[in-house]
Amino acid sequence: MTDLNQSAFQPTEKPVETTEIDTLIVGAGQAGVAMSEHLGKLGVPHLVLERKRIAEAWRTGRWDSLVANGPAWHDRFPGLEFEDLDPDAFPSKERIAAYFEDYARKFDAPIRAGVEVRKVTRNADRPGFTVETSEGVIQANRVVAATGPFQQPVIPAIAPQDDRLMQIHSADYRNPRQLPAGAALVVGAGSSGVQIADELQRAGRQVYLSVGPHDRPPRSYRNRDFVWWLGVLGLWDQEAAQPGKEHVTIAVSGAHGGHTIDFRNLAHQGITLVGVTQSFKDGVVTFQADLADNIARGDENYLSLLDAADAYVERNHLDLPEEPEARFKYPDPPCVTEPILELDLAKAGVTSIIWATGYSVDFSWLDVNAFDAKGKPQHQRGVSSEPGVYFVGLPWLSRRGSTFIWGVWHDAKHVADHIATQRKYSAYRDAAQRQAND
Ligand SMILES: Cc1cc2nc3c(=O)[nH]c(=O)nc-3n(C[C@H](O)[C@H](O)[C@H](O)COP(=O)(O)OP(=O)(O)OC[C@H]3O[C@@H](n4cnc5c(N)ncnc54)[C@H](O)[C@@H]3O)c2cc1C
Repeated sequence: MTDLNQSAFQPTEKPVETTEIDTLIVGAGQAGVAMSEHLGKLGVPHLVLERKRIAEAWRTGRWDSLVANGPAWHDRFPGLEFEDLDPDAFPSKERIAAYFEDYARKFDAPIRAGVEVRKVTRNADRPGFTVETSEGVIQANRVVAATGPFQQPVIPAIAPQDDRLMQIHSADYRNPRQLPAGAALVVGAGSSGVQIADELQRAGRQVYLSVGPHDRPPRSYRNRDFVWWLGVLGLWDQEAAQPGKEHVTIAVSGAHGGHTIDFRNLAHQGITLVGVTQSFKDGVVTFQADLADNIARGDENYLSLLDAADAYVERNHLDLPEEPEARFKYPDPPCVTEPILELDLAKAGVTSIIWATGYSVDFSWLDVNAFDAKGKPQHQRGVSSEPGVYFVGLPWLSRRGSTFIWGVWHDAKHVADHIATQRKYSAYRDAAQRQAND
């Protein structure tokens, strides 16, 4: 029946031999690889099905120049270091994909690449689930959805119907050469939007960057990267997003060796900042008058981290050099003091719009009772409301760090422990049953 040791990481034409499995993991990104490691350690028979290749999102779902937002010492799983890199360097996206492939190979993860899971339904007349795949049907006692936090690029409904403009989501942006000559409007100033805007501006493009509410940590402070500060201050472990801040984006970059995102600095560099993009009509785009507020609230967030860091240093008597220059503020540029509220795209020479406006999830293949009326996964730390169905890798699954490389590893451990515990209950036999079996 089951050939669990088969590790075909590249897509093959071979059918999936397995027809029954205890636990099926769907998706072999970092979440699926972490799940497989933990289940393997606990002796849980399992199989990972991946429709493309291991870490496909890092291979083909990101722009060419992307590097990790966190340094190599941090953005990794506990069991393997980036041995070829300086621990403070930011690995390229290809290096991260190779890392997960190496990691899966290290424990011979039972991953079948090139197999799509198309439907999962709970069995009516027996335990477990029927899983329809592109290579046949599998019976599974449990299913772990590890299909990613960022599956479906979201372009808001305000996007204009205008053939003169090239419009793409940041998921489809690769490099400046892909865009027609002319200026670009980048909508969204989280980590993707600011990095893309910066890259386009450095390539000689005129760029308008639409900036909404954001958090803006310092890249580093007092000789420590912000990932370290978030760790020691307990902020990665924050359990739920503050009300109203569930979707506040975080503007951070590992590009060019890593630097703090400073919107005033981007403006002085030549990028024109505008407020939240509100609407398009007859070739004219309207922006909200919220740019200065958004930047001021980003500053507050930035300064609050410096304050918390200083207090931590003092409380713990740490010998970390003071860094008063981190509090230096560039003067507000004209685009902030006299914000553009309307822009005629043709007159401004804008030929493309990059929508760096985030993603949603798609669980249409998972036909079980694990969602609320709005289709949102219902779970507690990944253990869903449908017994036997689990999620890993979702935003805020257990805490702020849940979608990040190191965070998903810990969430997967919790889910694997739950699965192993449930298997123990199922395996339990009372005295009479034990006697009958003797
Ligand atoms: C631009 C960008 C930069 C990021 N940078 C960092 C960073 O520097 N550090 C960090 O820690 N995090 C970063 N993240 C966040 C996070 O680490 C990544 O999004 C990561 O790819 C999430 O891993 P995952 O395994 O949860 O999902 P994914 O990597 O999306 O993996 C899900 C897998 O499931 C497969 N799949 C989906 N549906 C099916 C199906 N029906 N059947 C079979 N297979 C299926 C997909 O092909 C995919 O390979 C970044 C995210 C983005 C968008």
